[in-house]
Amino acid sequence: MPIFIFFVNLQDMREDSLKRLAILGATGSIGMQTLDIVRRYPELYRAEVLSAGSRVDELAALAREFRPSLVVIARRELEGRLRAALEPLGIAVSSGPEALCAAAESPDVDMVVTATVGYSGLEPTVRAIRAGKEIALANKETLVVAGEYIRRLMAENPSARIFPVDSEHSAVAQCLAGEDPDKVRRLIITASGGPFRTWEPARIAQATAADALRHPNWNMGAKITVDSATMLNKAFELIEAHYLFDIPAERIEAVVHPQSIVHSMVEFEDGAIKAQLGVPDMRLPIAYALGRSSRLAGVSEPLSLEKMSNLTFEAPDERKFPCLGFARLSLERRGTTACTVNGANEVAVAAFLQGRIPFGRIYSTIARTLERATFIANPDFADYVASNAESRRLAAEELGIALNN
Ligand code: NDP
Ligand code: MG
Repeated sequence: MPIFIFFVNLQDMREDSLKRLAILGATGSIGMQTLDIVRRYPELYRAEVLSAGSRVDELAALAREFRPSLVVIARRELEGRLRAALEPLGIAVSSGPEALCAAAESPDVDMVVTATVGYSGLEPTVRAIRAGKEIALANKETLVVAGEYIRRLMAENPSARIFPVDSEHSAVAQCLAGEDPDKVRRLIITASGGPFRTWEPARIAQATAADALRHPNWNMGAKITVDSATMLNKAFELIEAHYLFDIPAERIEAVVHPQSIVHSMVEFEDGAIKAQLGVPDMRLPIAYALGRSSRLAGVSEPLSLEKMSNLTFEAPDERKFPCLGFARLSLERRGTTACTVNGANEVAVAAFLQGRIPFGRIYSTIARTLERATFIANPDFADYVASNAESRRLAAEELGIALNN
């Protein structure tokens, strides 16, 4: 069963009352762009809950502007500061991972936007599904870490709905609209190729954080920008596509398209390929998810086709970007494999961003952690928690660094 149900009941879509959002990760790249939509379409959306990890001042400023009923900060020791700033305004404040989960299942919330980064997105998403919420899913790590489990959970909670925010998956959803899923031959997920597409492997191995953060087309958070440079982000997106659309792994391909104009494609049995094109602007897929697969007039700039003199496509080079191979491995071995890849990657990327390891060690840390980690074939939720903790510990050991969480 696919996680994403692309048949939208027209009755549902006509219901145009104000939608109350919990934006988890409001201070980040996706969070801020979601708030931009709330700012521009106040008749459609209200920010009921805002959350951040640790940037308390940025969160307080957003709360002053949007006046949510609740703000949540993940780091507990920062709650007091936030309380002092917001309680005089009548805004409730809470803190810690459990508070984030409680916000995701609040009866005052219609849709949860999961825009936190990394493993931290998993449990709030699980709780939102159990509460039968609509979810605009940006946090792809949720499906990478626990795709099988989320699929089961969605089947058990039929009123929960997931709408993809990731631009490629939104593009696939848009291409599938009105189509028979049995007639799909393959999904073609586009990739910009990141900043190192034209670099030689030896130079890539020594790249610095400043090099990796220079993404050619998208302005995103630091972690996903590094994942784009290793192309692990694309491996994650292949896994995400498999679970969202229930298409076998061997019928989902990545193709490098450096211009980031074609956001992904679907090929059908008759040989037709449908594509979704647009300027690289995340507000379009975010709005499409917020609107439950419906369109919001004027949300992004129109694409000028006359200026598109060359749209190119090429096969990805796995010799340069070995992280791509983790998609195949994860979907073949399943179980906790991708959870281990994700945990090791989070530790390695953090170390890389701090300038402690060269770029090339991200791949080798993940590969080495996979060799050492416990493999659990049929994990339940507690197994994912344990596997995530183990992979972080092993990756830190591998790098000779202390874990800071
Ligand atoms: P950012 O790093 O820009 O933002 C992350 C947000 O999560 C911030 O609000 C941050 O708070 C918060 N946060 C960080 N750690 C925790 C934690 N432990 N608990 C709770 N909240 C936390 O990330 P992006 O917006 O770029 O990405 C968010 C998600 O969306 C990722 O999963 C990414 O893969 C996905 N995505 C992003 C795209 C993009 O264009 N940016 C495109 C497609 C998918 P604080 O500011 O306090 O640190
Ligand atoms: Mg993407």
